[in-house]
Amino acid sequence: MDLVEQLTRLSHEKGYRLYFLGAAPGVAERAAQNLLVKYPHAQIVGVQHGYFQAADEPAIAAQIAASRPDVLLIGMGMPRQEKWAWAHRDALGVPVMIGVGGSFDVYAGVVKRAPRWMQRTGCEWLWRLIQDPRKIRKVRNLPRFAWRVWRASLG
Ligand code: UDP
Repeated sequence: MDLVEQLTRLSHEKGYRLYFLGAAPGVAERAAQNLLVKYPHAQIVGVQHGYFQAADEPAIAAQIAASRPDVLLIGMGMPRQEKWAWAHRDALGVPVMIGVGGSFDVYAGVVKRAPRWMQRTGCEWLWRLIQDPRKIRKVRNLPRFAWRVWRASLG
């Protein structure tokens, strides 16, 4: 969540090109508009919602590639966003692609962010789990993910 805002700030300061992909129709646009109020020089070079048909994927990837973003932020939920980025990586040709989950909903004002103290103490995930208990299916995999990353880091 913080990363989306920090990247928009960096874009405002240094001109990096950002593309917002994901969320329901209109939501990423609204998130972009809200962020542009605070960071008016941010280069949000394209926006596309995340509820498209498989048949439209090549056209969407081509449209993103044509906008030449430096960073593609994909908010289509884990693991769909990561799988999509991986499957289309060659067509996209974007140097940095990051899964941002439900961040566009938050910046669009559709979903309320966790209270500050929860953000500060690293408990934002718990807030989001309480808001949507079905997330438990994803959250319970995180210790396994952390374990595998740690094991892989040992070589
Ligand atoms: N979403 C999407 N396309 C889909 C399914 C979901 O764009 O086919 C969006 C959804 O509208 C929401 C985001 O993906 O904005 C998922 O948010 P969530 O908080 O569930 O993601 P998580 O952080 O748990 O991966």
